[in-house]
Amino acid sequence: MRKRIGFVGLGIMGSGMAANLLRAGYVVKVFNRTRSKAEELAGAGALIAPTPAEAARGSDVVITMLADPPAVKDAVLGRNGVIEGLAAGAVLVDCSTVDPMTTAATLQAAAEKGARFLDAPVGGSKDAAAAGELLLMVGGDEKALDEVRDVLEVMSRKIIYAGPSGSGTMLKLCFNLMVSHVAAGLSEALVLGVKAGLPPQRIIDALMSGVLASRFIEWKGGCIVDRDFTTNFSIKLMHKDLNLLAGAGHSYDVPLPVTAAVKELFAMAKARGQEDEDFCSVIKVIEDFAGVDVKR
Ligand code: NAP
Repeated sequence: MRKRIGFVGLGIMGSGMAANLLRAGYVVKVFNRTRSKAEELAGAGALIAPTPAEAARGSDVVITMLADPPAVKDAVLGRNGVIEGLAAGAVLVDCSTVDPMTTAATLQAAAEKGARFLDAPVGGSKDAAAAGELLLMVGGDEKALDEVRDVLEVMSRKIIYAGPSGSGTMLKLCFNLMVSHVAAGLSEALVLGVKAGLPPQRIIDALMSGVLASRFIEWKGGCIVDRDFTTNFSIKLMHKDLNLLAGAGHSYDVPLPVTAAVKELFAMAKARGQEDEDFCSVIKVIEDFAGVDVKR
């Protein structure tokens, strides 16, 4: 029998992921705190649950895509949360980017219900979520992963098995450490070059012709010069990840001096009121200090 799916968290990423599961023919029961976002999926066949617990009840696979650790504490571990409705034998897959402590608490809560748990945060942004082309970094029981692989493949172009429970969460934090640093470095390089008289596209073209050439530099560099800061991944969520990284560095006794500086750069962007803009808008902080805008 086709697996029944519960899906909790229909933000920028979750809405595209759930839509793909519906398109693939799965029965998907959805919950979102702001109900209007769930209603947008009803036309595509989603069943709307009144609580996360009801989205989980009777589902073989429950996928969560929530903002941060407090959101997981509320919607998964809290009153009327996913755990309350989770069936014995079901597999809970948390795609949210959280910290290892939240992942460990979710694993334990799921186990107490006789359910399995995978931490499966994602790489790729809004477009990749909508196209079913995410990268999934999965930690936990490999047998449980094999059982739900068919469902996860609908949302992803690649699944990396990271290791035991918590490994997916750690891998994702390392992944975003690099993403945040590249965004910060690109911002500084562009502002410095432009203030010194270089056309910004020439800087991007040079970067795209060297060893650092990447889809990221091409994409975000293009967004910056076009002044398109439409949100794919918000400043506030990147700042959240940088705080999670600071906590992980503390826990493992690993100094992260560059990450600390990048974290404060994102804190400055947030304090300027940019928290809901795309994270590449972090360049505006440096532009302001330098008195120059990077544009075509
Ligand atoms: P988003 O658009 O801000 O969506 C966040 C979701 O969490 C919404 O459904 C929101 O509900 C829900 N939520 C927040 N607090 C809650 C609470 N206390 N109780 C219940 N629900 C709550 O974020 P997103 O960009 O989709 O990101 C989701 C996760 O994926 C985050 O962990 C993020 O770091 C990670 N991620 C994002 C990207 C990206 O490019 N966007 C890429 C990779 C990973 P409401 O609609 O009611 O606010």
